[in-house]
Amino acid sequence: MWDIVVIGGGYTGVTAALQVEAALPDAKVLLLEASDRLGGRAFSYAAPTHPGAPAQSLDHGAHYLGMRQKRIYALAQRLLAAGQLFNRVPMYGPDPAFRSFLEGTWRITVRSESFLGIQGLRKDAPLYDRVCIFKSLSLYLALENLVNTRAPWRTPFAGILDRTTLAQWIERQRVPQWIREMWGLGCLGIISMHPEHVSLLYWLWYCAANDGFLNVANDVDAGPQQYSVDIGLGGLLQQYAAALRGTVKLNSPVVQVDHSAASHVTITTADGTTCDARRVVVAVTPQAAGRHITFTPPLHPARQALHQQPTGHAAKATLFYDRPWWRDAQGRHLFGMSAGPLAQRMEWVLDTSHPDGRQYSLTAFVNHQLFAGLAPDADEAALHAALAAGMAEITGDEQALHPQCVAVFRWRDAPYVGGGPNTSFQPGVLSQAAPVFNQPEGAAGRLYFAGSEYATEGAGYVEGAMAAGEFVAAQMIYDAARTGDFAAGSLPSAPVLPGHGPRLLSSLIFLIAWALLAPITELVGWFSGRRR
Ligand SMILES: Cc1cc2nc3c(=O)[nH]c(=O)nc-3n(C[C@H](O)[C@H](O)[C@H](O)COP(=O)(O)OP(=O)(O)OC[C@H]3O[C@@H](n4cnc5c(N)ncnc54)[C@H](O)[C@@H]3O)c2cc1C
Repeated sequence: MWDIVVIGGGYTGVTAALQVEAALPDAKVLLLEASDRLGGRAFSYAAPTHPGAPAQSLDHGAHYLGMRQKRIYALAQRLLAAGQLFNRVPMYGPDPAFRSFLEGTWRITVRSESFLGIQGLRKDAPLYDRVCIFKSLSLYLALENLVNTRAPWRTPFAGILDRTTLAQWIERQRVPQWIREMWGLGCLGIISMHPEHVSLLYWLWYCAANDGFLNVANDVDAGPQQYSVDIGLGGLLQQYAAALRGTVKLNSPVVQVDHSAASHVTITTADGTTCDARRVVVAVTPQAAGRHITFTPPLHPARQALHQQPTGHAAKATLFYDRPWWRDAQGRHLFGMSAGPLAQRMEWVLDTSHPDGRQYSLTAFVNHQLFAGLAPDADEAALHAALAAGMAEITGDEQALHPQCVAVFRWRDAPYVGGGPNTSFQPGVLSQAAPVFNQPEGAAGRLYFAGSEYATEGAGYVEGAMAAGEFVAAQMIYDAARTGDFAAGSLPSAPVLPGHGPRLLSSLIFLIAWALLAPITELVGWFSGRRR
């Protein structure tokens, strides 16, 4: 009998196993991973960035971290040598530019000429547009500040917010079309989902659990895209996991979990092997749990709903060039591009070069329509040509047509992840999740679920995976001590989910701002002839 079995070897599972081992040195811990490597959505690979060059470590999945993501930032500082954790922002130059497709035209916004640093909004934009962006943001922030990140179903008006899609909220606003498109491309760029498939409550919760939308969308200083690591976030995971003392079995997909007994949980892997454990944590994406594991007896209906949710459609492509021509494109230093919410090839692109010049690259999230548009017998060369054409479109520069190397990974084809960056929740799911969200199941509550999707801090990021792993480990340690599984000394204190409740005062201030701005925008729009 194992004391703890962890299903899934991503950042969540590895964190959970390490924390249990640290707190309970005598515990027998088994980690079962379906694929042939640990890391899950943190997947670094070594590739030459131009023919004949030494291989560089790069990421198919998670790539960035921010200094406000305290767990992963501290881990990188602890495990990496000096210089291996690097700040990307100085590389973007003193006055970086962003190219975006909004309201049918490509716009380049240079930071020094942008209004409040908002990509796509210039200082000399019409007054009506500038007032409207404040109005739209005020309403959004009034709602975001209502969110209870620990218990989203306790957010005021949770039912209404969860019945509404993000797209419906965007459409109902009386603002210029390009502001609506900005919201849509924010959703597409951040979670690789179209806003019509996402509940407004989910979107508000996801952003609130990551210090707010303005933080999530920040690609520069103090944002979650500021830092990268030399060995990749997958490489960092390998170093982190090296401290595991328990048994790790790769190529061991779990296909069945029987949680009917009061004393233990029985697990079966694809090769028919079974084992019993006092406590089991399922640390896989909700969608992968629903697709690959049969639970006996069936799980709570609210959990089944979580397990049926879609994943984002992210496919990631990195194109390597002999020089960073985009740093002098059309007289601007481009560091990022977005093709708008209706993108059909590249959705967004960032400069992912190494600051020391060892490789120059642009990385894109690629829309599924690019792959669908290829002939059924298309070979790798045809795929690379299509990616290069997509890159030329989004950068507006034909130099993109000639990459030296191309790396591409389609997360929907990764069977035990199923998409990326995350599973996202449709309307009507999160407001009903109270009975199961971060709660164990089973006859005696011995079956736990964790993952970046359940994180109440850093949701959807590696930070969230670590937060979820920490919390589920603390839950299991507390329950094991409480039920006498171990000859524990004193009972540890009951774990508390990180996160925060509604921030009603902030919400009220933004609501008042919105109420004041609404008539002002009408007046400005009336006099400037731009009212819609
Ligand atoms: C393209 C992309 C870009 C991203 N960019 C960033 C970024 O820049 N920064 C950031 O912080 N985050 C980013 N993310 C998100 C981040 O990678 C994830 O939130 C995080 O890695 C999730 O960790 P996890 O352990 O919860 O899940 P996973 O990493 O999915 O790990 C789950 C593991 O469980 C295994 N598994 C599944 N089913 C079974 C089974 N039946 N039996 C046994 N094992 C099973 C899987 O193989 C996998 O290894 C990105 C994700 C993607 C896909």
